[in-house]
Amino acid sequence: MAKSLRTYGWYLLAVTCWTTVCFIVPDYLDQTVSTWRSILTLAAYAAVLGVVPFLLFTVLCANKYVAAVCLPVYAILGSGVAYYAYNYHVLLTARIVDVTLHTNAAEASGVIAWPLIVFVVINLLIAVLFVVWRWKMPPTRLPYLIALIGLIGLPIYVHVLHGKLIHHYPLNIYASLSEYHYLKQQRRQPYEQIPAVLTDSVPTDSLQVVVVIGEATRADHMSLYGYARATNPRMQARSGVIALPYVYSPYTYTLGSVPYMITPADSLHAKWANNKESFIAYYADQGFRTAWLSNSDMGETYVHYMYSADTLLFAPMTKYEKSVDAKLLPLLREALCRTDATTGKGLYVLHTIGSHWYYDTYLPDDFAPFTPTLSNRIITQNTTEQIINSYDNTVAYADLFLDSVISMLQDRPAILFYQSDHGESLGENGQWLHASDADELHYPAALIWYSERFGEIYPATVSRLQAMAQQPLTTAYLFPAVLSVIGLQTTEQ
Ligand SMILES: [Zn+2]
Repeated sequence: MAKSLRTYGWYLLAVTCWTTVCFIVPDYLDQTVSTWRSILTLAAYAAVLGVVPFLLFTVLCANKYVAAVCLPVYAILGSGVAYYAYNYHVLLTARIVDVTLHTNAAEASGVIAWPLIVFVVINLLIAVLFVVWRWKMPPTRLPYLIALIGLIGLPIYVHVLHGKLIHHYPLNIYASLSEYHYLKQQRRQPYEQIPAVLTDSVPTDSLQVVVVIGEATRADHMSLYGYARATNPRMQARSGVIALPYVYSPYTYTLGSVPYMITPADSLHAKWANNKESFIAYYADQGFRTAWLSNSDMGETYVHYMYSADTLLFAPMTKYEKSVDAKLLPLLREALCRTDATTGKGLYVLHTIGSHWYYDTYLPDDFAPFTPTLSNRIITQNTTEQIINSYDNTVAYADLFLDSVISMLQDRPAILFYQSDHGESLGENGQWLHASDADELHYPAALIWYSERFGEIYPATVSRLQAMAQQPLTTAYLFPAVLSVIGLQTTEQ
């Protein structure tokens, strides 16, 4: 009994180590593991996450026939997910499920590379070896008794550490599929459209309207409004830029803020962010071709609006490349071509990744006006100077990105709204990142740019927006402002 317990114990431990190292550790390969402390932290994460497969294997390996089916399947799925995490530097989410399900065979052949096949085959062979080892064990009741530990322990462990475990294999398979299913239902909800009237009969032929949703970029780090570092040199040099330095966001997280900005929701009608159509629907009614171009995730609170556009495109995640916002530029070019070939007038929502943590992931390697930058993914292992430098680099990169978008629009009658969803804490009162209620999170960066031709055709709109920009605003200004460009106003505001 003691001998078979020892053998089976070693067996479970070996299966767990193999699957943890091959399928979970790749999630952390972006981490800088230069110091003993960071290596030990990573090992601690792996140990906490490895408990899940250990408990699962006590159940799956109790019966040798079940093990013979489950271990190879576990290896194939795990290899795919780990390969994705390693190559694309992203964890499995509903967006990736969506992209995977809508990838046709031709596109898939570009994604499925030889290293992936080799990785799957190696892990499949290891799985087969573990199956053979299991089959060679003498039949006893011991594995079934041990399976009880897993049956009871696994649900408790997952319940207690849910948030820490859910983004890693194998639970991320379940989590992303159920999130995808939920989002699919969510986007099909019928949303009501508040009536709007034309208060101004403005010509809209060949008008291009761009709304850039920024991420976690705070107002007081914009040199456009007076920040000491040159974080917006291009916007400061451009003509036609209207700064909006006094915008207050009631929400400090993306899911709350994005729908609030693009729908008629305001302080009196906060719920309209969840059940009323966004400005996309109104533009479509006026004959505009609409597109949502995203370098961010799908969120349950705004997935409906993403799918309400004529075109929904995600910035491609390609091998060894970073998820920089510049990947949206070819998509915008493509969308502008579609507009030119159809209605001639277009509305484009560009959802950027902006100043999202881990800042350096979203910056090109050679883009670092402020140094030294971050050296560790664990935020507290960096100095405040490093964190602020990297953060300011993302603000400067947003400036470069907006400048590139404007370059594509400057010869057309065009207007661009840039509104970040919320701010970011940079060490104030010992706080970092966002989603708390800290003051600095409530003041996101915002600006408007219009082309010379836009200024000639719509002088009254420009004066109105310039006057608005001097006022204290909330992010609810965006919906009526975008609608007013085409002379529309909702009847209930
Ligand atoms: Zn956000």
